[in-house]
Amino acid sequence: MTFSDFGFSTELLRAVRAKNYTVPTPIQEKAIPHVLSGKDLLGCAQTGTGKTAAFALPILQKLGQEGGQGQEQEGPHPGRKEKKRAFRPVRALVLTPTRELATQIGESFREYGRHTGLRQTTVYGGVSQVPQERALREGVDIVVATPGRLLDLMSQGLIRLGAIEIFVLDEADRMLDMGFIHDIRRLVDKLPPRRQSLFFSATIPGDIRRLADTILRDPVRVTVSPQAPAPEAVEHYLYLVEKPDKAALLQHLLADPALRNVLVFTRTRHGADRVARHLARARIPAEAIHGDKTQRAREQALSDFRRGKSRVLVATDIAARGLDIVGLSHVVNYDLPNEPESYVHRTGRTGRAGLSGIALSFCDIGERPYLPAIEQLLRKHLKVVEDHPHRSGLRPGSPTDLEPRKPRAPRPFMISVEELFGGARREGFAG
Ligand code: AMP
Repeated sequence: MTFSDFGFSTELLRAVRAKNYTVPTPIQEKAIPHVLSGKDLLGCAQTGTGKTAAFALPILQKLGQEGGQGQEQEGPHPGRKEKKRAFRPVRALVLTPTRELATQIGESFREYGRHTGLRQTTVYGGVSQVPQERALREGVDIVVATPGRLLDLMSQGLIRLGAIEIFVLDEADRMLDMGFIHDIRRLVDKLPPRRQSLFFSATIPGDIRRLADTILRDPVRVTVSPQAPAPEAVEHYLYLVEKPDKAALLQHLLADPALRNVLVFTRTRHGADRVARHLARARIPAEAIHGDKTQRAREQALSDFRRGKSRVLVATDIAARGLDIVGLSHVVNYDLPNEPESYVHRTGRTGRAGLSGIALSFCDIGERPYLPAIEQLLRKHLKVVEDHPHRSGLRPGSPTDLEPRKPRAPRPFMISVEELFGGARREGFAG
């Protein structure tokens, strides 16, 4: 499935292409057709699944289609002489719990909607209201808001919700957690009863369901399941290494032909380029893919990798999303992800389709705090590989030196991280 299958306008498709999105994520694939058809929606999905585009793209499509640009009605202060000027009503409202989320969602609307002529603004507390007020006076089609500031601006007559066609409640469970329930009820009361409502929450316990029942009408329910733990077939190994030695360690590991075709994950685009360059200098055929590359360059890199022309593909999480590569021999976490779900997602790419897979993770001193949550989600320990030439504890005088080791009986090649870090690690799961 591609984005053009949704019947999006050329303006929207252009923006999606510029973001380098190749295929819709599962929540997008499931939700977008319903939103376009005008249905109310109860979406069970968390941040990171692509849910913003799942509502932002169809909203932009609908508002753009149904015109409304230049639709005018009386101002927010009817009857007041000085305000008697054209006023563009707000047609879509997105409520979200935090300023950070509001900014992110606003930015997404701006990027996806840049060729549509639709206008949007973001409204949140903790900053001066003057620029927000100015934007509202100039007229916007879409408002992304946190509840408190929105109510504030409404009480000052600066924004009215009487023309809202589409309402989105984002991260409903977090909203309730943060004590916004009364604010939400007050805001929903001000919305026109004839509207489309989209309700997103990572979890749907009883109180969320009851709130959803008061907002949604005959909703379609769409769920994207939380990341499933990695397949049992994957073996997980950990390499303790200092940051500057990671490239040499990767090169060392690639001397083993068992690493047939390897997907390497880095945190940043620059990191991906650096690793690919390092490998190329070592005459190991490698390519990097990430959002800075053109669609063509990405496709070329992917096709070279699939055909075995390059042995290593270096990618960021975002660039690797939606890539379907079967039969990977190894996944390497060159940088350990700080989100345990990313770890599971990355390493789940090996061990697919009944094949066994191997995940090798590099961990420098700064990344060690990420380990407990990863192991908790995996429900197993990563096996520490002691026998490699770049182990961090081996550098004399290094700040990452491990505790001096007591003499001990000969031990197997692998030990668990638990043994290595002792009491510093979180307990509470079988492993
Ligand atoms: P969200 O869950 O909305 O916070 O999105 C998480 C990240 O996924 C954001 O950085 C988006 O830019 C990115 N994203 C959303 N949709 C896609 C897609 N179809 N392909 C690749 N990346 C996407």
